[in-house]
Amino acid sequence: MHDDRTLVEARLKRVLDERIRPAVYPESVPLEVSVWHAPGEPVPVAEGLAATPEPIAAGAAWGAPWGTSWFTVTGTVPREWAGRTVEALLDLGFDESMPGFQCEGLVYRPDGSPVKGLNPRNHWVRVGSLVEGGEQVRLHIEAASNPVILCHPRFQPTHLGDKETAGSDPLYTLARMDLAVFDETVWQLVLDLEVAGELMAELPVESARRWELLRAAERALDAVDLQDVNGTAQAARDRLAEVLSSPAVPSAHRISAVGHAHIDSAWLWPLRETVRKVARTAANMTALLEDDPDFVFAMSQAQQWAWIKEHRPEVWAKVTKAVATGRFVPSGGMWVESDTNMPGSEAMARQFVHGKRFFIDEFGVDNEEVWLPDTFGFAAGLPQIIKAAGSKRLLTQKISWSQTNTFPHHTFLWEGIDGTRIFTHFPPVDTYNCSMQGRELAHAARNFKDKGVARHSLAPTGWGDGGGGTTREMVAKAARVRDLEGSPTVTWETPADFFAKAEAEYAHPPVWIGELYLELHRATLTSQAKTKQGNRRSEMLLREAELWAATAAVRAGAPYPYAQLDRIWKTVLLHQFHDILPGSSIAWVHREARRTYEEVARELNAVIDAAQRALAGSQGDGTLLFNAAPHARHGVPAGGAGRPSPTYASRARVRDGGGYVLENDLLRVEIDDRGLVVSAYDRSAGRETVAPGRAANLLQLHPDFPNKWDAWDVDEFYRNTVTDLVDCDEVSLDGETVRVRRSFGRSRVTQLLTLAGGRLDIVTEVDWHETEKFLKLAFPLDVHADRYASESQYGHTFRPTHTNTSWEAAKFEACNHRFVHVEEPGWGVALVNDSTYGHDVTRTVEAHGTTTTVRVSLLRAPRFPDPETDQGVHTFRHALVPGAAIGDAVREGWFVNLPERLVPGGAEVEPLVTVDDDTVVVTAVKLADDESGDVVVRFHESRGGRARATLTTAFPFADVVATDLLERPLPGEPRRDGNAVSLTLRPFELVTLRFSRSAG
Ligand SMILES: [Zn+2]
Repeated sequence: MHDDRTLVEARLKRVLDERIRPAVYPESVPLEVSVWHAPGEPVPVAEGLAATPEPIAAGAAWGAPWGTSWFTVTGTVPREWAGRTVEALLDLGFDESMPGFQCEGLVYRPDGSPVKGLNPRNHWVRVGSLVEGGEQVRLHIEAASNPVILCHPRFQPTHLGDKETAGSDPLYTLARMDLAVFDETVWQLVLDLEVAGELMAELPVESARRWELLRAAERALDAVDLQDVNGTAQAARDRLAEVLSSPAVPSAHRISAVGHAHIDSAWLWPLRETVRKVARTAANMTALLEDDPDFVFAMSQAQQWAWIKEHRPEVWAKVTKAVATGRFVPSGGMWVESDTNMPGSEAMARQFVHGKRFFIDEFGVDNEEVWLPDTFGFAAGLPQIIKAAGSKRLLTQKISWSQTNTFPHHTFLWEGIDGTRIFTHFPPVDTYNCSMQGRELAHAARNFKDKGVARHSLAPTGWGDGGGGTTREMVAKAARVRDLEGSPTVTWETPADFFAKAEAEYAHPPVWIGELYLELHRATLTSQAKTKQGNRRSEMLLREAELWAATAAVRAGAPYPYAQLDRIWKTVLLHQFHDILPGSSIAWVHREARRTYEEVARELNAVIDAAQRALAGSQGDGTLLFNAAPHARHGVPAGGAGRPSPTYASRARVRDGGGYVLENDLLRVEIDDRGLVVSAYDRSAGRETVAPGRAANLLQLHPDFPNKWDAWDVDEFYRNTVTDLVDCDEVSLDGETVRVRRSFGRSRVTQLLTLAGGRLDIVTEVDWHETEKFLKLAFPLDVHADRYASESQYGHTFRPTHTNTSWEAAKFEACNHRFVHVEEPGWGVALVNDSTYGHDVTRTVEAHGTTTTVRVSLLRAPRFPDPETDQGVHTFRHALVPGAAIGDAVREGWFVNLPERLVPGGAEVEPLVTVDDDTVVVTAVKLADDESGDVVVRFHESRGGRARATLTTAFPFADVVATDLLERPLPGEPRRDGNAVSLTLRPFELVTLRFSRSAG
C-alpha cells in the first residue's frame, strides 16, 4: 500500500483547526457589555457588583497594569435556540499561549455567588442545557488586568513588575463576549480526534496500532461534511468508536492523574493577586467537580486555603462542600510550598506545623504526603523534619530541570543527614502543568526509570504557575485514555491513593543519600539580599521572642503572646515561598517583603523587650546580658541572663610594611595596606590560616549574565572572568577596628575588621550600583580538604571540594545556613555569616600542597524580573574562625546571628532548661501552641555524632512526653529523674519534649 501517512496527518490538523473546532459554537449573538474600573486596589465583591458601569464594546482597550475592572454582561437567549445548550463566551482579550500569566477573571451571579474563573484556556460559562429560549442572562466579571511579565522575548527588563512604575496604558483589547450555542457532539469529536491523533504521533511508525488510528481518523474525516460539520459529527465519531475502545496492553504504564493548579503564592504578581488567583481557580475546580464524577483535584499550601477562607467566603463554602466529597483534596502539609535550602531549622519545622495543623483543624485531614513540585532543590535536613511532622512521602518534579545530570530514579527512598528515609516520587511526566496531551503521557511512560519493577506514576494535571487548574477538555481526554491501546492508562486519584499503590508495588526502591541538588537556579541563594536578610533576622527574632516570652510566662506569670507569634510565624513562613525568599519575584513583591520584615522586627523586638523587662526586674543598677544562644556566652548560661564576664582584650598596632595587626591571646591577624588579610595566626595551635602567598577578605567581582532566568541562574562561565578588588581608598585604625574603604564601578564598600575572642569579625557595607555583576568575598585557607560542611536544618551536610564527576562539578554554587566549615584532622576553619546563603568552595594545588578557598556570595544585579535588583546599601556580617572544630562552627554561627542584648536590671535569669552537653543544641523553647501552658523544648545533636546528655528544667513539671513537631505525644517515655530527663541522641537526631507544668 502506498505510504500517504503525512498527507492524512496534515489533513487531520487542517480540518480540525479550520472546520471542526470552529463548529463547536455554530451560532452566537453578542452580549451587552458594560464596565466599571475600580479606581485603585481590588474592592470587595459587593462593591464591584454595586458600581455603576459604563458601556463598552468588543474591540475596546481596557485594563491599566494591575487594575481591576468589573464587567457586566447581559443578554437574552434567542427563542430559536430552544432545546439547545447555550454558553456565554467571555474573552477578555486572552492570549491562548500563557494561561495564568495575563488578564484573568472571576464570574459572579448578580447575588454575588461565584460561578467560575476565566482564563485564556477556559472562557466559557454554561447558561443552560436544553434552554427554552427567552432566558435573561446577567453575569458580572471581576477582571484583573495583570501585565505579562515573562514576555516574548523572555527575560527582558520591564517596569511592569511594580504598580508604582508600571504606568497606566491599557494592556488588553476586549474580544468576543457572546451568547453561543454549544454543540457537544462536535466538542466530543474534537477530543476524539485529538486523542487519536496525539496517541498516533507517539507510536512507532512500524506499529500496526499507529496505522489503525490513522485509517480510523481518515474514515472519520471522510464522514465529515465540511459544509455541515454539526450535522455529520456523530457519524464521524461512530467511525472512531472502535479504535478508541480497544483496551490498553497489560504492561501499560499506569498514570495517576491528580487535578492541580500549582499556584505560586507570589511571583510575577504580588501577594494580593494570588489571593484572587486562588479564588478563581478554586471556583473553577469546584464547578468542574460538579460536572464530572471521576475528577479529583488537589490543592496544596495551607496559606492559600486560608486566603480563600478569609477573603472569599462564597468560594470557601463551595470548597468545604467539595472537600467533604473527598475529591477536592488538601495536599501536602506545609504552610506554603517553600524553598527548602534556605529556611532555618525551626522555620522549616514550622512550615509543617502550621500547614498540617490548618488541614487537621479545618478538615480533620492529616496528610502523609509532602507536595513540593516546584521547589529549587531539597536540603538533606528535610527528611528528618518530614518524619517528625508525621509525614512520610515526598513529591517533586523539579529535579528534572537539572541542566547537567539526569537523576537515576523516579521512585526511590531519599535519605537525609540523620538516616531518615522518605518514600519519594518524581513524576516522569516532568511537569506540574500536565494537560493530558498524548506526548506528555507517552513521555511519562518512556521516561519512567523504574520500569520493570514499578508501574505507577503521578501526573499533576492542570494549568499552574499563575493558576487556572484543570479544564473540562483535560478531563474528557483523561476519560478516553483510561484504558486505551498504545497509551498509558490514566485514572483520577488522590496523592495518597497514588502513593499507597506506588509503595505497595515497589518493595525495595533504590536509595539516594544526601541533598537533592537542583543543577539550576543557583543564584536564588543570593538574589534580593534584603529579602534573605529579612528572613534570617526574622527567624532569629522569633527564637528570641519565644524563648524570653516563655521564660517570662513561667517565671513572672507574664502573658504569652500566642496569637501574635502565630500570626508572625505565618507571615515569615509565607515569605519563604519558593519565589519570594529565592529572590525571583517582581519588584513589587520584594518591596513589600522589605516593609513586612521591618514590621516583623519591630513587633518581635517589642515582645522581646517586654519579656526581658519582666524578667530583669526593676531593682539593681547593673546590666544583664540576655543570652538567647544555645551555648554559654561570656559566662552567661544558654537561655539565661546574667552579668557578662570580661572578654579577651584585643590590641592593635601598625604592621611592618603597611597596614595593621590585630591581636589577642587567641589570634594575631595581619591586614596589609590593601586592606586584605594576609595572615590569621591561631596562637593556641601555632598555625597559619591564610593560604601561603594569598590574601583573605578579598572582594571579587565577576560579570554575571546567565543565558536565561536572570534572577534565578548563575551559569558556570561567570568564573572565567574575575576582577580582584584590591585597590583601596583608605585603610585606617579606629580603636581596635580596622576600617577599609574601596570604590569600584559605581559602587563603594566599607569594611570593619575586629577581633572578637577567637573570631575575626568582618562587617561589609556595600553601596551597590552595578548591573549584571556578581560580588564574592574570598578566603583562601591553608587547609587540605576533600570535602567541606555546610550548615543545613538540624545539622550539616558535606559536599566535595573537587570536581571529579559531572555531579560534583555541577555544585559550583551551593547553600549554607550560618556556617561553612573545612578541616584537616584536629584543626579546621569556619566561615560564619549573619545573612548570606550562597557560597562556593574550591581547591588549589600549589608548590607546598593543596589549599581550600571558601567564597561567600554577597550580591548580584540581575535585571529580570526586578530591573533594579539589589541596588542600594547592604550590610553583611561575616566571621573567620581559625582553629574551629565543627562544634565551634555551630556555636559561633549562633553567636553571630544572635547579637548580644544588654538590658538594665539586677535579677539574673536562670534558664528554663539546661543541657549538660554542648553537643546538644536547643533550637526552640516555647509554650505549647494549644495554649495549655505546657513548655515545649526542641533540640538536636549538632555535630553528627552520638550524644548523652541530661536536660534539667528550672521549673517543676508533672509530666514529660516526647512529641512530634505538632506537639502531639509520641509512643515511649523519656527517662526522668526529678526535674531532669536523660537523653541519648543519634547523629543529628531531633527531639521535641513537652513538659506539663505542675500547679505548685
Ligand atoms: Zn512555583
